[in-house]
Amino acid sequence: MTASTPAPAPASAARRPIVLVTGGSRGLGRNAVEHLARQGFDLVLTYRSRADEGRAAVGAVQALGGRAVALPLDVARSTGFADFADSVRQALDGAWQADRLDALVHNAGIGIHAPFATTTEAQLDELFAIHLKAPFFLTQQLLPLLRDGGSIVHLSSGLTRFTQPGYAAYAAMKGGVEVLTRYLARELGPRGIRVNTVAPGAIATDFGGGRVRDDAQLGAALAAQTALGRVGRPDDIGPVVAALLQPGMGWVQGQRIEASGGMFL
Ligand code: NAP
Repeated sequence: MTASTPAPAPASAARRPIVLVTGGSRGLGRNAVEHLARQGFDLVLTYRSRADEGRAAVGAVQALGGRAVALPLDVARSTGFADFADSVRQALDGAWQADRLDALVHNAGIGIHAPFATTTEAQLDELFAIHLKAPFFLTQQLLPLLRDGGSIVHLSSGLTRFTQPGYAAYAAMKGGVEVLTRYLARELGPRGIRVNTVAPGAIATDFGGGRVRDDAQLGAALAAQTALGRVGRPDDIGPVVAALLQPGMGWVQGQRIEASGGMFL
């Protein structure tokens, strides 16, 4: 079911590339959606339960001259991925008369801050399902819909390079995503598909209860450890995701690109 279905594109119009962004309704995903739209991409974006936020993101893309469809997706439920792929197929056909995506951006995610000693099995399982199992099996399901020469972007974290107490489980999953990036780059390379990771530093969003944004003491401590002297903003990340999908990045394959303002150098 689509939250908003635009009228089909006129048959004569040159088609803009279509990118699927998970969790594109808010935070870094929403920011990437807007930068992509500005740079000439159309969007299939997902939201988990807030259809209103999905509609707002679609409206933002339209205001920037693009086309977008919002679809519900809970990435923690891999059993729903086959149905989701069907919804994507229908959306491509309905809104663009297309049968292929040009790129996938695996952005949806949660933060759980818990000391290693007290992290529960349920917390680890949830982080695994959302951050590692979902990119793995969602890409597997969507692979027939991704065009040859397309692109996949994973979202990792600066926390795989440096450490902060309380992020053992989260960062371990993001580390897995970085390894997955290199394996997919190798296995999908023969189809011309590029697979890369963007690793943000601490960014002020709702993430992890909004700690980086709302805890002034934490924000100041992180800023002091950042070469550029502040914590990140969503506008520091969306453009990096969008840049990776540009043709000029066509020789960048299997890489982790950190956008952290130089945290803990
Ligand atoms: P955010 O503001 O909390 O937004 C998270 C997004 O992911 C929302 O769109 C949310 O959808 C979606 N999402 C969460 N769980 C989901 C699920 N089970 N199924 C589908 N969608 C789900 O966080 P953010 O800062 O934008 O983070 C985006 C990505 O960047 C994550 O992968 C995160 O690990 C990574 N990252 C963030 C930071 C940071 O400091 N912010 C740093 C490094 C990496 P709903 O709105 O429906 O909940």
